[in-house]
Amino acid sequence: QTSILPRVEVHTSTPTSNKLQTSVPLPTEIQTFDLSSKKTYIPATSPPSDTDIINILLLGETSVGKSTFINAFANYVTYNTLKQDQTSQPIVLIPVSFLITVGDNFDERSVKFGDVDDHIYLILMIMIEKTLCIIDTPGFGDTRGIQQDDRNIEHILEYVNNLIHSNTICFLLQPNVSKLNIFFRSCLTQLFSLLDQNALNNIIFCFTNSRSTFYTSGDTAPLFKKMLTSLSIGNVPFKKENTFCFDSESFRYLVALQNGILFNDDEKHEYEMSWSTSVTQSNRLIDYICKNITIYRIDNKLQSMKHVQFEIIPMIESMLETMRNILRNLILCKMNSFKASIELYPKVLDHSMTICLLYKGKVVKIGNFLITYNMPHKIEKNCRICQCSYNQHRSIGYILEYEYLNKSSIYNQN
Ligand SMILES: [Zn+2]
Repeated sequence: QTSILPRVEVHTSTPTSNKLQTSVPLPTEIQTFDLSSKKTYIPATSPPSDTDIINILLLGETSVGKSTFINAFANYVTYNTLKQDQTSQPIVLIPVSFLITVGDNFDERSVKFGDVDDHIYLILMIMIEKTLCIIDTPGFGDTRGIQQDDRNIEHILEYVNNLIHSNTICFLLQPNVSKLNIFFRSCLTQLFSLLDQNALNNIIFCFTNSRSTFYTSGDTAPLFKKMLTSLSIGNVPFKKENTFCFDSESFRYLVALQNGILFNDDEKHEYEMSWSTSVTQSNRLIDYICKNITIYRIDNKLQSMKHVQFEIIPMIESMLETMRNILRNLILCKMNSFKASIELYPKVLDHSMTICLLYKGKVVKIGNFLITYNMPHKIEKNCRICQCSYNQHRSIGYILEYEYLNKSSIYNQN
């Protein structure tokens, strides 16, 4: 399951009603880490005010190592040197599991930290002055094929459409690929069918595992630049200033140490160097976002067709049901000559309420009509009513109730 996880709209402390509806199950959980006090997870009951949050939309292939990158990044902005970190537990925001090779014989050792699950999180890193909010999206190149990729990008766009603002769109890349995943092209085209050209300057590039290319963007950069110029979305800056080269290997090393795996002095030295380079890059990245990037406002500012589509889709169902009820009342009117009608009573629900697409609603007889009532399912980590995955749930902003009245409907009176 790789659709965007249930998420809290952390970006908004005052959600507006028109932001409530989305077909993606709405957020119920976020992973929060308070880096300012180095405490463990804190409950995300009161998200910080909008302006303090730096939203980073993180995009990349499934294999690029996004989870490890996020974990590593949290450690880099918390601990300046690897030595300092060894005395305390590494910060693991997303559970990790990987193989690491040690020694001259390249022995493979398996390392686990935390429980690995398929969930993708919205990650809040609370720092002293700012809160970083990494929007960890499903990776491209899903093993379930291109259709799943398309579904994922649609979810990402829908999510972005609901954001108040975006600080940066970050592509996470491996530095030495021989061929670019075709999906980068499709992702950028679709993203900029929603956003306008002003957001182009908010794109940044992060390279992971760049120790092998001496902390440069390697062969990937020319390929990516070539792809960018072939797109008709405008000029995407891809310069040294908005390129950041990390190495997540040193985070893996740290987790491996905690798992009791031993390394020789050369390996240790190498990882310590890698750590300090990544710390420098992390600080430069935060600095760049704060000083060089203009916040891109999304709320009520978008004028694209894609945005209109997202605004209209949630209205379709209620319009259809209203029309269906008018038909019921017309039939009642013919049968009972203005003496009966059915009225709709929508009840507003909170964010976490969904309906399960596999779960049949309950059928209720209202007058002469059989009407299906949706059963709202509350989603927390999982659904509390059924066993289906949250992918099978669709968020609903309201639930409809019906009442049979012994008088004609207001439509029929006219
Ligand atoms: Zn359910």
